[in-house]
Amino acid sequence: MLNIVIFGPPGAGKGTQSKLIIDKYKLMHLSTGDILRGEMANETPLGLEAKNLIEKGELVPDDIVIGMVKNKIDNNSDHKGFIFDGFPRTNDQARALDNILEERGTSISVMISLEVEEEELIKRLLKRAEEEGRKDDNIDVIRNRIKVYNEVTSSVADYYAETGRHRPVVGTGSVEEIFDRISAVIDELENKAG
Ligand code: UDP
Ligand code: MG
Repeated sequence: MLNIVIFGPPGAGKGTQSKLIIDKYKLMHLSTGDILRGEMANETPLGLEAKNLIEKGELVPDDIVIGMVKNKIDNNSDHKGFIFDGFPRTNDQARALDNILEERGTSISVMISLEVEEEELIKRLLKRAEEEGRKDDNIDVIRNRIKVYNEVTSSVADYYAETGRHRPVVGTGSVEEIFDRISAVIDELENKAG
């Protein structure tokens, strides 16, 4: 299997690049943010619980997202691999993901981390607010999401770096340029795997 984590702050382009990656490499997209928005739209108990946190820019508790991820993996076990988008967001989630995959005889090959500076992130998210109307894309919530990223999530990159699996990629330029950089990382991986 080929399992990839796509990582980076809010607005880094994880969702946009994931779409291109799943097409080219035939992976399954696993976006915990998308799953949570689906639960919110359907007003499930989980969605209602998540809504309050998401609209403040806070994290949904580890056990909830880990459970969601486990379900999605087990319901798609026939796939060539997964791209994890927006997860793991804490070191405990990263450890849990390693354990879940190990139990299923596979692992994360690489974390691709999109590097974009804060000013550009805010610009992109405010533009998305106009286009998509997501409730958590307003300036106060955006600032908190970036704060949570810096304080809690950014260290997940260190977790992968410790095991030699962290690949930073410049996240600015055209969508195609960024995708070329990502493709180079994945191609190198596939060549190594033979
Ligand atoms: N979220 C979370 N855990 C996850 C995924 C999402 O807590 O694993 C929440 C969190 O409040 C986050 C929001 O959902 O700010 C939107 O997440 P998404 O990944 O869609 O946003 P992005 O960072 O890609 O803009
Ligand atoms: Mg996203």
